[in-house]
Amino acid sequence: MRKSCCGDTSGRYRGAAATGRHVLPLPSAPLTLVPPSRSTSSSVKPSPAASTPIPVPVAIPVLLAPLVAVPRLLLSRPPPSPQRRHGRRATTPRPGAAALPAPGAPRGRSAAPPRHGGRCGRAACCCPRLCVSAAAAGAAPAALGPPGSGSGSAARPCSGDGGGGVLRHLLLKLRATGPLTVAEYMREALTNPGQGYYTRRGGVGGDFITAPEVSQLPGEVIGLWCLSEWMAAGRPAAMQLVELGPGTGALTDDILRVFKQLASLLSKCDLSIHLVEVSPKLSETQAQMLTGGKVQSNPEDEAAYMKGISKTGIPVYWYRGIQDVPQGYSFYIAHEFLDALPIHKFQRTEKGWREVLVDIDPEAPDQLRFVLSPSSTPATENFIQPEETRDHVEVCPEAGVLIQRLASRIEKDGGAALIADYGHDGTKTDTFRGFRNHKLHDVLKAPGTADLTADVDFSYLRKMAQGKIATLGPIKQREFLKNMGVDLRMQVLLQNSRDSATREQLLHSYDMLMNPKKMGDRFHFFALLPHHRLTPPHKEHNLQSKSPLPPVAGFGELLLK
Ligand code: SAH
Repeated sequence: MRKSCCGDTSGRYRGAAATGRHVLPLPSAPLTLVPPSRSTSSSVKPSPAASTPIPVPVAIPVLLAPLVAVPRLLLSRPPPSPQRRHGRRATTPRPGAAALPAPGAPRGRSAAPPRHGGRCGRAACCCPRLCVSAAAAGAAPAALGPPGSGSGSAARPCSGDGGGGVLRHLLLKLRATGPLTVAEYMREALTNPGQGYYTRRGGVGGDFITAPEVSQLPGEVIGLWCLSEWMAAGRPAAMQLVELGPGTGALTDDILRVFKQLASLLSKCDLSIHLVEVSPKLSETQAQMLTGGKVQSNPEDEAAYMKGISKTGIPVYWYRGIQDVPQGYSFYIAHEFLDALPIHKFQRTEKGWREVLVDIDPEAPDQLRFVLSPSSTPATENFIQPEETRDHVEVCPEAGVLIQRLASRIEKDGGAALIADYGHDGTKTDTFRGFRNHKLHDVLKAPGTADLTADVDFSYLRKMAQGKIATLGPIKQREFLKNMGVDLRMQVLLQNSRDSATREQLLHSYDMLMNPKKMGDRFHFFALLPHHRLTPPHKEHNLQSKSPLPPVAGFGELLLK
């Protein structure tokens, strides 16, 4: 839970020395699937004798069986190459590359950021509510004051050190056109084609760490989730796995390892991978991770800007936007993607809703400050609901458009979307924040050099689905992973680990993922599914069919508990 915007780094995991993850192998030979069992014991083992078709309701425990039965512990990934250590992830070498951090050494979580009331340097990033200046009602955009001052004139702008490219570009733009929306500012800072945070850096040195970098477990269970839904849909002949914002590609890599392990199940399925990535540097990193770097740029006759073949023989394509990804039965995975999309910010004032804008500070012409629009804007008219009770609201229209597109695709072609991120259900106010070197960073300072992020509003996503599809969640990460049988897999990994350092590392990454104070309660899973997946198409379905609709894995207690 985010206690205050400065007292907590809610969401992303920022560690001064983040955890490198162990990737443990799955059994090399495909294992026969065990028949469904209601056993909740943790000693599920694959049975070589049984190969009966799997009734869908028990898909997860059954699919887990070959996953948990790791015969021995081997570290299957090579030490990270310098390129692979780029990205928005931690930079601690993986096992095999260097010694593990000593037990008790700081990992993952960053040192405490400045608390509310400390010298944060910017009004809006410290204060749950922006303070509207007395001049807010005037004709010119009004400066926003520091927390509690009530005086816009006292707003202390952020210094423009570093990040020269984006800042210079923004200053020119601001001089030419006047204040920008926070969404325009965020888009430039993150994805400006030449100088944006993602575009330029590819993330050299981590500013934060994400779950797939911490551990192989999230990717494995997401792979199982997709397979479980694919089986529930009657095993369609073709399946696309689409990842939005894949970072270093670790999540897809883990999913592909699961698919490889369960190759016999997928033998008749035409599988392809589609990655939506705006950063050229990160797409190179992903290509290295997934294909060993064997890719072709700008393939003819393709909407993709790059394509290759995964190490496991599956075609992989890269796109700049979801609109370019071919239609068809697909699983869309967005892990810590939506929080990076640009938001608009709004403030309630005595004169009505005003949009928060970014402008040049008149007292320091190379620095930026927040101001309020002098009157309402098209965005205030369109995005604020009449029944809104909060005084400060953030809206991410790009996330809304994305959800609408996914909803149309899933309604038409089937499949599902699984969104994992930190967020709230329409209750939070000012969550816009920046991170650099695992520390909170003034969002207006040195744009392009820090990660900017805002909590995902799941209630808005639900609204944007417009009833075309069903939604499930948000459910806390630790509950989702538990429901997916992560404890079982963890037990086997521990049993098969040969040394205490590896066990220590496994326990650390498990704690990071599951501890309510770390990622466990902060991150949530949210799913989009066709209506017929949750509601029988005909009323008489339950009467006539012997097999009721199988539960959606992860979102309820399943058989492993
Ligand atoms: N999913 C990964 C990485 C999350 S970081 C993980 O959880 O580890 C966000 C990712 O989204 C990066 O790969 C970034 O380059 C990409 N990204 C950010 N904005 C984007 C946009 N507008 N379109 C496509 N990709 C974007």
